[in-house]
Amino acid sequence: MTIRQLSETVINQIAAGEVIERPASVVKELVENALDAGATRVEIVTAGGGLNLIRVVDDGSGIAASDLPLAVARHCTSKLSDDIHDIRSLGFRGEALPSIGSVARLTIRSRTADATEAMEIVVEGGRIAGPRPAAANAGTQVEVRDLFFATPARLKFMKGERAESTAISDVVKRIAVAFPTVRFTLTGADRTRLELAAEADDEVGRLHRLAKVLGDEFPKNALAIDAMREGVRLTGQVSIPSFTRANALQQYAYVNGRPVRDRQIAAAIRAAYADVLPRDRHALAALFFSLDPALVDVNVHPAKADVRFRDPGLVRGLVIGSIRQALANAGMRPATSGTA
Ligand code: ADP
Ligand code: MG
Repeated sequence: MTIRQLSETVINQIAAGEVIERPASVVKELVENALDAGATRVEIVTAGGGLNLIRVVDDGSGIAASDLPLAVARHCTSKLSDDIHDIRSLGFRGEALPSIGSVARLTIRSRTADATEAMEIVVEGGRIAGPRPAAANAGTQVEVRDLFFATPARLKFMKGERAESTAISDVVKRIAVAFPTVRFTLTGADRTRLELAAEADDEVGRLHRLAKVLGDEFPKNALAIDAMREGVRLTGQVSIPSFTRANALQQYAYVNGRPVRDRQIAAAIRAAYADVLPRDRHALAALFFSLDPALVDVNVHPAKADVRFRDPGLVRGLVIGSIRQALANAGMRPATSGTA
């Protein structure tokens, strides 16, 4: 038996297996890149539930012509120096674009503010063409066509256009809550349409964005959360017990501005409402944690949505305690029961 180094394309396809699970993962990665580039406008267009086409256009910093080949090369990033503990951006792995290029047809067209013309680079199933001159405004346009054409096994797992479109819309809403000053539009070939205007950079703007995402009825039926425990600050909004959903999809959590999916936070929300909600009803919530980045690890999974808190018990206690307190203050549960 001989051991060989795998080809770059196969290496990228293996990474894509984790990073790019479905069309919504592509949208998430491309929108994160636009936000990391300082975009104030992000336009997303999809067709066929994102399997035929995903296009994300931003007005961010753009990519210099000489950097385009690096943008699609594995482990190349402009966001992380040599310290994995100092992550301030949504991206840091340098994996998304090469992964996407290995399983789809990827075109990146970009122009920095001071460049005289735009350049484009194309990656199809791992084969790179360009960079070559192209026409485009300042900023970046990324187009992904025929997702998973190069990995038919993954293509078979897709759930159908409707389900993929819903997942895309959920991803955009989730991230949009954390960036209220950015204008987002999402247009699908079907009737999907999401338009989120840029909001003011203040509390009113944040609440307004939340209402656009969770529904205009949400603010009237929500309680504010604001608590601090041992250096961990938790702010946000949670719904009152009479304003609930049949699933927990509208529970959003953010750690230092990054949308996360955390089982323990979800469990803590459930526990906080345990004696005021039936098991099959779920509160709506937007919870923002801010803490010293050294107390939380975001480098847990390639999709960057999982986190590990240094002290999970503290976070659980903070969620349960602050939600119960807010409910008690509003006279919606007895004030006497314990916190965690
Ligand atoms: P990461 O985001 O982890 O750095 P990606 O593969 O997503 O890795 O992107 C690689 C690099 O390409 C980024 O570090 C960034 O420099 C550049 N890039 C990608 N998308 C954009 C964009 N929309 N605007 C500006 N630069 C971008
Ligand atoms: Mg990225």
